[in-house]
Amino acid sequence: MSEFLSRRFSQMKPYVPGEQPQDMRYIKLNTNESPFPPSPKVLRAVNIDEVAKLQLYPDPENKSLVAQIADFYQLEPSQVMAANGSDEILGYAFMAFCDQQKGVCFPDISYGFYKVYAELFKINVLPIPVKDDLSINYRDYLNCGLTMVIANPNAPTGLCLPPEQIEEILKSNPHDLLILDEAYVDFGGTTCLPLLQKYSNLLIIRTFSKSRSLAGARIGYALSSAGIIEDLNKMKFSFSPYSINRLSLLAGVAAMEDKEYFEHCRQQIIMTREKTKASLLNMDFVVTNSCTNFLFAKHPRLTGQELYQKLKEKGILVRHFKQNKIDQYVRITVGTQEQMEKLLAALESILEVK
Ligand code: PMP
Repeated sequence: MSEFLSRRFSQMKPYVPGEQPQDMRYIKLNTNESPFPPSPKVLRAVNIDEVAKLQLYPDPENKSLVAQIADFYQLEPSQVMAANGSDEILGYAFMAFCDQQKGVCFPDISYGFYKVYAELFKINVLPIPVKDDLSINYRDYLNCGLTMVIANPNAPTGLCLPPEQIEEILKSNPHDLLILDEAYVDFGGTTCLPLLQKYSNLLIIRTFSKSRSLAGARIGYALSSAGIIEDLNKMKFSFSPYSINRLSLLAGVAAMEDKEYFEHCRQQIIMTREKTKASLLNMDFVVTNSCTNFLFAKHPRLTGQELYQKLKEKGILVRHFKQNKIDQYVRITVGTQEQMEKLLAALESILEVK
């Protein structure tokens, strides 16, 4: 730390992303990327002619991408905004909709960035404990009087709430915003998108990083009322108006257009998840009922740290969280069928020698 860092940040703990080795030596099952490359349409859209235009700024309003997303979900373009990853949009949402008076609540076991943003923007947090089975009790959010952030499906547990329970939360908090992070919804959760027509206190945040195979392009988007989108844009245009670069904009439009490829990849991941889960259960793992592109699992004979370490020694990266309630678990991204077979073989050998 230098002598120049503002004192208000001296104690701040930044977000720690999962390991990102760039040498491709590991089977990488630790940050929930898609194992499939971007759609071939993306590869055609991001071409040398477009690279040759990089001296120009991108469209700060992201009109082509916003129009494509609006069309896909049958919304008005005024109900959509995009930015550099859903992390950035979450940041704008914390900036815009919480402050020292209006605190925020979210489950104690959830995406780690929520806590970081709350600290960055000096927002009071009410952590709401998940149940013993790691699921969220929606009743804990009724009449809560705070801005709420819920990942649905939740991470890293993989568990989801049905839209009827989300609706109860919205109904009982008409003057408080629910930020619903649907990063993983394409893998088996039910979207709360239809609730946008009925409730003005819902903001849905999505990403291209998982189901659209574009984690490296960094594209996230928000779906909500025109008023809430206007508020988010106010934040974006006060912080990073050109947050999505020219090439990512093209990639995003092409990925959204290729409905067939999107459908194929996500079905493949769901199928592989279920197959892998069955094998893990056969090996005495406890596995949550994941509706995402990852599995959250623990084994009675090994700690989470041991599982993580032994898999790493065998060239497989998974994620372990040193956190109360979940430190026995590892989070395993669903890769290709072949990658999962290698994972299962590695686990078999680890458990045998134990
Ligand atoms: N929300 C959740 C629940 C996540 O797990 C992630 C991925 N780490 C994100 C948001 C952020 O995704 P991105 O910034 O890549 O869009």
